[in-house]
Amino acid sequence: MQRNFENYHLITSTAKISTPTHGGRAKCLQRLVRLDLPVPKTVALSFDVIKEIAFGKMPNLNDILSNFAPTDILCVRPSSESSDWGGPGAVLNIGMNEERCSHLKKYIGEKAASELYFRFIQAYSVSVARLDPDIFDHITEANGNSASAALAAYEQEVDESFPQSIEHQLSEVLRSMARAWEGTSARLLREAKGAPADAGLGLIIQKMVFGVGDGESGSGVLQLVNSDTGQYQITGRYLRQSQGRDSLSDKLGTLFLTRDTRGPSLETEEPIIFKDLIKKAELMRKKLREEMQIEFTIENGQLHILDGIRVMRRPRAAVSIAVSLAKDKIISKEEALVRVDPRAVGELLHRQIDPNAERDILARGVAASPGAATGTVVFSASEAQACAARGEACILVRRETSPEDIRGMHAAAGVLTERGGTTSHAAVIGRGIGLPCVVGVSEINFNSNNKAFSISDGRSFQEGDLITIDGTLGHVLGGTPKMIEAALDDSLKLMLDWAEEAGDIKVRANADTPSEARTAQNFNAHGIGLCRTEHMFFEDDRLTLMREMIFADNRDERRAVLKRLLPMQRSDFLELFTLMQGLPVCIRLFDPPLHEFLPNDREGMHDLAEALDLPLSRVVSRVETLAEYNPMLGMRGVRVGVTVPEIYEMQARAIFEATVEASRNGTPVVPEIMIPLVSAKREVELVRARIDAVASMVRAETAIDFDYRLGIMVETPRAALRADDIALDSAFLSFGTNDLTQMTYGLSRDDAGRFMSDYVQQGVFPEDPFHTLDIDGVGELLKMGVTRARGVKSDIVLSICGEHGGSPESIDFCRKIGMDYVSCSPFRVPVAKLAAAQLAIKDRIDPSK
Ligand code: PEP
Ligand code: MG
Repeated sequence: MQRNFENYHLITSTAKISTPTHGGRAKCLQRLVRLDLPVPKTVALSFDVIKEIAFGKMPNLNDILSNFAPTDILCVRPSSESSDWGGPGAVLNIGMNEERCSHLKKYIGEKAASELYFRFIQAYSVSVARLDPDIFDHITEANGNSASAALAAYEQEVDESFPQSIEHQLSEVLRSMARAWEGTSARLLREAKGAPADAGLGLIIQKMVFGVGDGESGSGVLQLVNSDTGQYQITGRYLRQSQGRDSLSDKLGTLFLTRDTRGPSLETEEPIIFKDLIKKAELMRKKLREEMQIEFTIENGQLHILDGIRVMRRPRAAVSIAVSLAKDKIISKEEALVRVDPRAVGELLHRQIDPNAERDILARGVAASPGAATGTVVFSASEAQACAARGEACILVRRETSPEDIRGMHAAAGVLTERGGTTSHAAVIGRGIGLPCVVGVSEINFNSNNKAFSISDGRSFQEGDLITIDGTLGHVLGGTPKMIEAALDDSLKLMLDWAEEAGDIKVRANADTPSEARTAQNFNAHGIGLCRTEHMFFEDDRLTLMREMIFADNRDERRAVLKRLLPMQRSDFLELFTLMQGLPVCIRLFDPPLHEFLPNDREGMHDLAEALDLPLSRVVSRVETLAEYNPMLGMRGVRVGVTVPEIYEMQARAIFEATVEASRNGTPVVPEIMIPLVSAKREVELVRARIDAVASMVRAETAIDFDYRLGIMVETPRAALRADDIALDSAFLSFGTNDLTQMTYGLSRDDAGRFMSDYVQQGVFPEDPFHTLDIDGVGELLKMGVTRARGVKSDIVLSICGEHGGSPESIDFCRKIGMDYVSCSPFRVPVAKLAAAQLAIKDRIDPSK
């Protein structure tokens, strides 16, 4: 008994209430009380009390009710730790019964009293007795007799009379809300929003002030900013003779808050109350150090503040609100930086379809999560994961998504569902992770069994076909319309400038093309950490040359073809150097197995035989010769460099000639050359000797001196274990955690998607290690590699360039073990920069963490 008593408190300025024990709403109300704002009397029930209620142990309600007057009417609202985690809906007007209804009639009139009673019967029936809401459909508010009609409907359904005692009503409401929180669907929903599995629920019991009755009476909701943009804009509505959030329900007679040409407003109708309300809202912003949404009620001309919750905000608004609070000196720059979820910044940065591009619209649906994405169609989460492991963009097409699809959604570039609306699973998750998403596309005819869908004009699309989704407009499009890169608005730019000052680990971008380098530049990347040069060979004119090179009979023939590839590579590098304006550019030499450039079906081989003017049999046999049982562990990376040295020689020459050219144009460049898939020191020695020789030749030919830095990509476990050996002769080591994960687990990057969901579901792996860095295993190798390399060469530059490089958790780890930079895809650069700044700030606040 005593323990319970301690766990509920009348909210006063000194009551022992905290967010982790009583929830954010209770704590906020206490702050409002401390500001002397007109908050109705409120009792806060702690998480512990609510948990006990859910398991059948009710606190002493008489004690709780003794805080209120016997005639008070009450409401109960949820108070979880974060308002984002949701909770059961509020129940208003508890305590309404025959007696109080007649009593109230004298004060607020017959119609208003009956209306309050009706509302309570309705809420109780639906939330507590779990009756269908439509049993009240026939009751209209107009006849002033709604309560008796509702009582009759209730009694007919339940076969019992409506509870009249406030203790009974309150205990049933509390029990029902406590149980709803413990239910599986509520649990899943809040976990999807980031709540821990054991998140608690607090409840507050508040005296109702009526927005109905004599004088100016009504209720409204107000905030000072726009939830989409975060810009100052008084937003909300007020409705006379209403309660709760009625004003937001588009009812006739709703008033704007500020003067508006579209209709009457609170500002013009009740200027004094309006002014007072804005003054109070501004005080809340300043003292609560946050943009708040305020629920207010006016009762007979008196303003009451019932509640304040953090304004719900889209990512753009989250940045702009944090920046403007810092600019107004309400919070510090550091606090502004830590307030914004780095992943939310990612959502801001998605590409959009160029408004001038032609749109081949296949179907329309609900615009559920902004941004546009192009990718191949896949119909299952495991296929999406397999695509991601191959580095291929895909659009996950599902009838609807469920929690088992979350991993696939993370892996996809976009999601398209046949069913659903803005609050369905795909939409909620999509917005949460910044994934373009279109839902409710019912115009599409799905045939998931045959892995196909068709549209009304008869066209059909199979798995592997290319489509585009526009999550901003809700369009599904054919082909690949032109995209425009995400724009950085002023607030985000300023925030990233602050992040730049605060962060202590550099962030580079993985960029293979000038367009990616441009994006990296837009986001102020500290250079390019990985340029995968093989991507430059996949363009059409080069592919044929590449194939010719592979078919060359001898070294001289091969050199002749490479000579034709040389100017192409040189111009690629020159463009990158020029774009990056002296920032470091790390170029990885050729990595994939040669056979990746060869066709794998008969038709392709025939085309190739034609293009190269060779007999088909020769093409077939060459393809067969190059085939490997396990190509990812075969002739690739430095192994090609050692056995077919001409390729690396050509690439080194292209890099050096571009260096000379760029320097002539006024851009000083010290190129970084990285050797992939090293496992032995001797590999490095062989390649280094040849690259040095090419450098000397280019210096002699051009009579221009230049420097370059040679480094190693650590992506085999042996390279990590022998990092001391290979570090001695290297300017830098960059950990390629994609391959390192593959080789540490002995898990194919290309095939693991097929069983990854099972593995994660059965708890074999906590997460997909290709998505979330495996700190325990792969991380151990990174730590070992870093320690061993630094042991022999303290100034060696160390970094990570696998896909993990952009995730806040990996950055935390890499920073802790002393890496100099992370390199990630260009769009994740701002995310990584913000995460890096947050880590540095948190360390300064509490270095023990
Ligand atoms: C890696 O293996 O981590 C890496 C960055 O290289 P790639 O993904 O090109 O194999
Ligand atoms: Mg690799």
